[in-house]
Amino acid sequence: MRLFDTVLVVDWSARAAPSPAKPGADAIWTAAARGGAAECSYHRTRAGAMQAIDALLEEELAAGRRVLAGFDFPFGYPRGFARALTGTDDPLALWAELAARIVDGADNANNRFDVARAINAALPGIGPFWGGPEDQTDATLPAKGSLREAHGLPERRACEMHLPGAQSCWKLYTTGSVGSQALLGIPRLQALRERFGAALSVAPFEAPDTPIVLAEVYPSLLAPHVAAQQEPGEIKDRAQVRVLAEALHGAGDALDAMLREGDAEEGWILGLGHEARLAGDDAGMPPAPPPLRDDCFAMPAGVDWTPVDDALAALRAGLHPVARITRCKVADAAGRVLAEGVAAARANPPTANSAIDGYGFAHDSLPPGDPVLPLVAGRAAAGAPYGGTVPPGHAIRILTGAAIPGGVDTVILEEDTRRGAGQIAFRGGIKPRANTRKAGEDVTEGAEILPRGRVLTPADLALMAATGLGEVAVFERLRVAVLSTGDELVEAGGTAGTGQIFDANRPMLLALLRGWGMEAIDIGRIPDDRGALRAALDDASARANVVLTSGGASAGDEDHVSALLREAGAMQQWRIALKPGRPLALGLWQGAPVFGLPGNPVAALVCTLIFARPALGLLAGAGWQVPQGFDVPAAFGKSKKAGRREYLRARIQDGRAEVFASEGSGRISGLSWAEGLVELPDGAATIRPGDPVRYLPFGSFTL
Ligand code: AMP
Ligand code: MG
Repeated sequence: MRLFDTVLVVDWSARAAPSPAKPGADAIWTAAARGGAAECSYHRTRAGAMQAIDALLEEELAAGRRVLAGFDFPFGYPRGFARALTGTDDPLALWAELAARIVDGADNANNRFDVARAINAALPGIGPFWGGPEDQTDATLPAKGSLREAHGLPERRACEMHLPGAQSCWKLYTTGSVGSQALLGIPRLQALRERFGAALSVAPFEAPDTPIVLAEVYPSLLAPHVAAQQEPGEIKDRAQVRVLAEALHGAGDALDAMLREGDAEEGWILGLGHEARLAGDDAGMPPAPPPLRDDCFAMPAGVDWTPVDDALAALRAGLHPVARITRCKVADAAGRVLAEGVAAARANPPTANSAIDGYGFAHDSLPPGDPVLPLVAGRAAAGAPYGGTVPPGHAIRILTGAAIPGGVDTVILEEDTRRGAGQIAFRGGIKPRANTRKAGEDVTEGAEILPRGRVLTPADLALMAATGLGEVAVFERLRVAVLSTGDELVEAGGTAGTGQIFDANRPMLLALLRGWGMEAIDIGRIPDDRGALRAALDDASARANVVLTSGGASAGDEDHVSALLREAGAMQQWRIALKPGRPLALGLWQGAPVFGLPGNPVAALVCTLIFARPALGLLAGAGWQVPQGFDVPAAFGKSKKAGRREYLRARIQDGRAEVFASEGSGRISGLSWAEGLVELPDGAATIRPGDPVRYLPFGSFTL
């Protein structure tokens, strides 16, 4: 199939009246790129724009030229909507359905709110569509997104998870009003489908092998590139379509593969994840995770023994998140890493309510002295609000959590009142608004409650649930493969002959990874055989984002991990000034970072906690996590030489850090005895009992 001769990009508008005659923002802008500078036009109405687009497509088709036409509204809806409305998952059936419902006049007057209301009415619950001018919203088409409930559809499409700024297609009004753009855009594209028939296809729902291809675009995709290319005085909308059309045209045959990407039900934004390529550079773009660089494990040249902090800084600089982004129910999100900051969908508390069981009244209607107030009939309880308004000088029975009824601003504690026939009495002097909680006093609607990279705790789930969130964007669990090397290793529980030992590292490493919320993939024990190890690394790197090996990481005859990584080219042997540990082989195997840990279980654990853990956190999207230690008096004495940092197996007893009797790195019993590590500095040190030492509890090595 030949390349596209022309790339047309359209910035759509959902206006209900014609745009002003003088070109401005909030109108339809189109740009047609044919190589060189794109030709831009301004259109005051959708009908006018479509006439021009029809004419352009006819002309190009007649001239045997191939056209890609990009429109900046969603071509599909979150999963399930097509089926709910049409009975099939086919997004193009949905196009036909919307085209049959939407009426959009030559002057932009249209029935989109009526259509949205009718769709909402046909679906369960309230929603999914929301927003509109005051005279268009009602119980079926609510004015606020937070008033929707139980419609059962996701808020966003998978492609929008990569674009934190993208608006939801359910939102019909104000900023973005993406929902209205799609409702008014899709029927126009359906008309193009009917007009051009087999000469036209819609990506990614159909194979893009036709003279005319329609695709969804997102003008902010190349925001930094647009900002750099915008001409002085140029309207931003014009600059966006112009720069995007030129960039897509410039992508040449790479467009074909991009058009085939995405989701066949929800649609996809053309070029998502390829921003740097489209912009012709890779500065400042946050696309889907790119691969790690070959030199990501490079250490400063000429250094013999690298200090621990330098090694950590090098790791931190060379790595970035590699996990993809997905959605997860709030209820299942504990331990997951947020892929984007989360904003409260609803205030907490959503309405002013009572903090206690008691009686409510208007403070400024209290008589002087000790008040005696008649009670109104009925009461306000949590979940059962009082419908009426409490008249001045009256009180109402109110329970904890109940919405504060009209006419009430203050609540008195039940125990501070005396109740008589139909009235209550209490001492004067209560403060206005006493015992009430203001709406939003905890969290206001729209406030950012949790940042990107947050590893979600059970309390975070409570916060998200309380503020109206049902689902969040999280990184996929980092997949980490684990394998042990060594001819001497036997599976735990098996029979070991002379000279054989049981594989102790694998169960330890797999359990650590699971504890960090990662997907631990067990590759097994691999003999000291290069072919077998090569096959195991192939398997591990195909199934996982990261590989941990133990054993064979030094430079000896049987150290095949380091030998193979060196052979693969992207290997660094890190000689870290650290005890226990030292040889750490780091490299890329088929693009996956490999941490070649020492075989000794003590060294393997220390290297994993000190080096692999923060690196894995970074790769998983959780950022670089520093373990939080604290200083405690030593219960031991020791002197150490300068030149390397030391980690001792330790635990706290009576407020002092004691260390395991033997420092031997084969002593697994000491690992199990310990509850943390004592960290001794790189320089020489003499520690006497009672001197402060840094203690890092094992519990601080979380993500
Ligand atoms: P290596 O790094 O392969 O030279 O191994 C160093 C020491 O750790 C040797 O005594 C190995 O037998 C031991 N070792 C290696 N892998 C394991 C393992 N998975 N479990 C227990 N010990 C191991
Ligand atoms: Mg070995």
